[in-house]
Amino acid sequence: MAKDYYEILGVSKSAGKDEIKKAYRQLAKQYHPDRNPDDEEAEQKFKEIGEAYEVLGDEEKRAAYDRFGHAAFEGGAGGGGAGFGAGGMGGFGGFADIFDEMFGDMMGGRRRGGAQRGADLRYDMEITLEEAFTGKDTTIQVPTSVNCSTCQGSGAKPGTSPSTCEMCGGDGRIRAQQGFFSIERTCPNCGGAGKQIENPCPTCHGTGREQQERTLQVNIPAGVEDGTRIRLAGEGEAGSRGAPPGDLYIFLGIKPHDIFHREGPNILCKMPVPMSTAALGGQLEVPVIDGTKARINIPEGTQNGQRFRLRGKGMSVLRRKDRGDMFVEIEVEVPRNLTKRQKELLREFAGEGETDKQHHPQSAGFLSRIKEFFEDLTE
Ligand SMILES: [Zn+2]
Ligand SMILES: [Zn+2]
Repeated sequence: MAKDYYEILGVSKSAGKDEIKKAYRQLAKQYHPDRNPDDEEAEQKFKEIGEAYEVLGDEEKRAAYDRFGHAAFEGGAGGGGAGFGAGGMGGFGGFADIFDEMFGDMMGGRRRGGAQRGADLRYDMEITLEEAFTGKDTTIQVPTSVNCSTCQGSGAKPGTSPSTCEMCGGDGRIRAQQGFFSIERTCPNCGGAGKQIENPCPTCHGTGREQQERTLQVNIPAGVEDGTRIRLAGEGEAGSRGAPPGDLYIFLGIKPHDIFHREGPNILCKMPVPMSTAALGGQLEVPVIDGTKARINIPEGTQNGQRFRLRGKGMSVLRRKDRGDMFVEIEVEVPRNLTKRQKELLREFAGEGETDKQHHPQSAGFLSRIKEFFEDLTE
């Protein structure tokens, strides 16, 4: 994960804004999925490039990255359930916007004027393996900035309305002629919104936004995996002055389970079995993730580490009806704290039988290999 963003874009740490943008465009064109259909490597690369530019193309994020590295974007208050990575949105955010802007530019289209789409939010949630198995409907509390309720996000005092910016004529951008070049920049008067506010709203002081705690319904589908990301479109922060809101991403973490260990769609359960049961064979009752119990018959002479498969008793799989399998791995337990009588019986047991080869083929075979080893040495 922690690939260097400068390396990804192939630029130096001191590269200027334009150089970074140029490198990004070139690489993004080269690895664009449309040009590389069904090429997973290119797709991965394309994602990395987008991620790198998302950070390096933004002055604030780049500064944070230079200071703290990837940690600046990993967000989240680590353990302890739900936490917000303040400013911790690496990776996605305005990626699509960058593309709109880029292709808009190439086709000679006009950039989308000024007003900024709201920031994306990250919410870390930890669930149990059982919850990942059944899926879960839950609600979360999200502190976020929403459109100001007093001015409905316009930023203007109720009863007044924003007027067209005098400096840019509503365009949000200003062009200046400098020698041969025509330079375009964001209008400093309206900050790119194309509108100016003479009477700012008293609640939000003209920003059009307000902090609020919102309750959101979240449906976690059955079969999610550790690291699954759920996107709630439009549930991020409100955009400035009526621009579209960002998205909310829920990052799911799955707590380790006491009994079950997940291996993709399958579940592994290590089951301690007394030595005598392993030797004689018998029936075992095993727990299943869905809360039921299953029975397996282990044959005589079952060895440590041997696995038994229970078809269809594994995890649920995202967007599929059938389940993975469950594997029960036998852990043969050697008895301790034996009574005198038990010891006697075991000694009697050890003396019984024809040859060691018959009852303990592995150790007998290994012993003879050791013997050969020493014989070879002395020859
Ligand atoms: Zn307001
Ligand atoms: Zn303006």
